[in-house]
Amino acid sequence: MSANDTVIPFLFESLPVRGALVQLSSSWQRMQEGRQYVEPVAEVLGHAAAASALIAQSLKSDSNITLQISGDGPLSMLVMQCSSKLEMRGMAHADLGGAALSYAEMVSRAQCAITVDGSAIERPYQGIVDVSGESLAASLETYYERSAQIPSHLALLAEPTVAGGLLLQQMPGSGELDEDDWRRLGMLAATLRPDDMRAGVDMGLLGRLFADDDLRVFAGRDAMFRCRCSRERTEDVLRMLGEQEAMESVQTDGAVDVTCEYCGRKRRFDEIDIKRLFALPGPSSGRLH
Ligand SMILES: [Zn+2]
Repeated sequence: MSANDTVIPFLFESLPVRGALVQLSSSWQRMQEGRQYVEPVAEVLGHAAAASALIAQSLKSDSNITLQISGDGPLSMLVMQCSSKLEMRGMAHADLGGAALSYAEMVSRAQCAITVDGSAIERPYQGIVDVSGESLAASLETYYERSAQIPSHLALLAEPTVAGGLLLQQMPGSGELDEDDWRRLGMLAATLRPDDMRAGVDMGLLGRLFADDDLRVFAGRDAMFRCRCSRERTEDVLRMLGEQEAMESVQTDGAVDVTCEYCGRKRRFDEIDIKRLFALPGPSSGRLH
């Protein structure tokens, strides 16, 4: 039995390596709802979703990871967020001009950052990921090896209906790991195929991938789509926009419609809403934040 959207953490009994396997179906499909992502963009977004869930499963509770790519190249923006509860959302903006661009071409002139924050994190931290690799997985492997000093193998897959992946990380301070063993595990991780994801991830898949190793497999955790948008947060955005601009929209269109880029939810603010919004003390003047 395997649930639709699952992260399964595991350890190698005889090697200082831990890992996680993820499969995202409904959450991944929900992220694409109402968006017409072309295939290369959908692929990198799906890779980002799987990677974020794999990283988030080891976070302290009440924290979040945000993976953000931005720049002035074909992929101008990609945001993927996943909480320690494995609630996730993500979106991308890209203009590939009709070309089937590779990952490297899409992220040319882009920066990528990983941010971890949340109430459990005393000091939020941000790491800069060099995106010059051949795939997002390669870029993140390099980041973990060089910046975080955690040698990692990462395999990521994405199709329209399912995204998934496998992360292996050396455990710091828990003994030597033979270079050959590490290379062997990387080669096995790279054998993960979309078919494995479609069939649903479970202990059996881990057993087949790492047939010669003893694994300790922990209970799978459910991942899900959840947007953090709210009417209150949208009001904050409108306050930043300013009363004049908001009122101009009301006069032109009869109302201000704000659509959440993550979940597609539309919120309408008419003239009365806008007047009330700017008559009330906003968060900047009314409360501390
Ligand atoms: Zn939303």
